Amino acid sequence: MNFSDFSLSKALLKGIGDKGFTSPSPIQEEALGPILEGQDLVGQAQTGTGKTAAFGLPLLEKTSKKKQVQGLVLCPTRELSIQVARELEDLGKYKKGVRVLAVYGGAPIGKQIQALREGAQIIVGTPGRVMDHLRRGTLNFSALKMVVLDEADEMFDMGFREDMKTILDQTPKKRQTCFFSATLGQEIREFSKLYQKNPHWVKIQKKDLTVEGIDQYYLEMEAKMKTEVLSRLLDLEDPRLAMVFCNTKRQVDRLTRDLTRRGYHADGLHGDLKQTQRDNVMNKFRQGTVEVLVATDVAARGLDVGAVDMVVNYDLPQDQEAYVHRIGRTGRAGKTGQAFSFVVGRDIYHLEEIMAYTKAHIEGRDLPTLKEVEAGIQERTLRELGRVLKDNQLDQEIQSLAPLLKREDPSRVAAALLVLYGQKNQETHHQALDRVDYGKPFRSTSRRKKSGKTPHERTSGAPKLWINRGRLDGINPKVVLAALHSEAGIPKNQVGNILIKEGHTLVDLPPRLLKESVKKLNGKKIRGQRVRVDLFKGKN
Ligand code: ADP
Ligand code: MG
Repeated sequence: MNFSDFSLSKALLKGIGDKGFTSPSPIQEEALGPILEGQDLVGQAQTGTGKTAAFGLPLLEKTSKKKQVQGLVLCPTRELSIQVARELEDLGKYKKGVRVLAVYGGAPIGKQIQALREGAQIIVGTPGRVMDHLRRGTLNFSALKMVVLDEADEMFDMGFREDMKTILDQTPKKRQTCFFSATLGQEIREFSKLYQKNPHWVKIQKKDLTVEGIDQYYLEMEAKMKTEVLSRLLDLEDPRLAMVFCNTKRQVDRLTRDLTRRGYHADGLHGDLKQTQRDNVMNKFRQGTVEVLVATDVAARGLDVGAVDMVVNYDLPQDQEAYVHRIGRTGRAGKTGQAFSFVVGRDIYHLEEIMAYTKAHIEGRDLPTLKEVEAGIQERTLRELGRVLKDNQLDQEIQSLAPLLKREDPSRVAAALLVLYGQKNQETHHQALDRVDYGKPFRSTSRRKKSGKTPHERTSGAPKLWINRGRLDGINPKVVLAALHSEAGIPKNQVGNILIKEGHTLVDLPPRLLKESVKKLNGKKIRGQRVRVDLFKGKN
């Protein structure tokens, strides 16, 4: 299929051509037609699949030069608003007289008000700031034709639900309404009922969602080894741009600091940073002066950071979808990428579940030894030397070395330069991992050998504790552990893997404790919500 198969104007086709898009992505193929025809739509597809153009092209197509706000796109964060606005500007650059304006918090509102007065037809913004403009009367929706919720699930997760309602309630009844999201939860369904008319549902299947062209590995280690192993991987694989995911903001800060101390150009991204700091990071990122971006899921969702060639799950993600989102950052557009997941202790069970869910093979890898890292660096240095020799005349350099070369053997001079280069550049920062560097490769497979089964076989077959609340109810491992402890007297160290799904939770417990725990926990409250608890047998 071609973009020219859709009823898009010449100007837009030209913009698409300039962006280098040759054919529509799956979500675009499915969504462009219905949205162009004026239908409401709910579109689900993974990050990086081209959702912006899927709604952006029809939105631009339907927007006229008239100086009224005709399109509204709500996005969860400032970065995403800017990113979406840019993409729309790019695609619409030959459409004269149509202006796209991003409005978001953390920036002076005066400038935005001024820009609104000058007349923008498409507004892209965060719910909070859009509300602000509505209250001030600086935004007028009377001519609005289309509303898009982009990354709708994320906006719900961030607590924008009421703002989104207020905004939608202030838009004209006669409008087109499109929701885009990476996942389709309960809240989107509810919003769809409330705000859409006969919506067309487009779902890009999981199969297309993942992970072809990405080499996936896991490395088992002790928690305290993580930073050292990460820095070895960075040196060994030498990615141009790596994205490293942590599960908490504190960990992002800590790791960013540690990597910087070790001499990497690392930067961190999470929700608690001031806007100026976040802007700073994103700018450095776009200019390519960052080689490692450390982030939480929330901070990274939907951000289009371009060519990431390595993704590291420094902490294994809490749920399987997050895994797909994270590693989907690499291996884009036919390029191959690498994904490494760090596995500590019980994480291995979780990893097995991720494998079952993604149907992907994640290959176990030994921790890199210092020797391997050194060999890798050596190989790279030689390669780079070869390139310098090939690309440069080097007359001046030879001249400046001349006095030395009279006295010394040229190969010793070259070797000495290598020493200098090594000192300047790298790798004095590694610490020994005793077990890895001087003992046997690290492997915590003893548990598996004992039972003769893989962890997955062991967990998925065994009965579990089932709780009728899940992620959407605000359940997290901590509250589950706390409830098991206080209601059923079960100590933390007896609790196995806790698998939190959208609407329910499964907990691995020793068989002897299961029945008792069901009885004691059933009908009690977790996070203020009464829970139903049962035995769960069979596959997840
Ligand atoms: P999503 O919103 O689904 O996460 P984006 O709309 O941000 O994805 O698109 C991800 C990247 O893919 C962007 O850099 C975008 O320019 C690019 N892209 C979108 N559509 C196409 C296409 N049809 N062909 C090639 N690249 C595309
Ligand atoms: Mg997007």
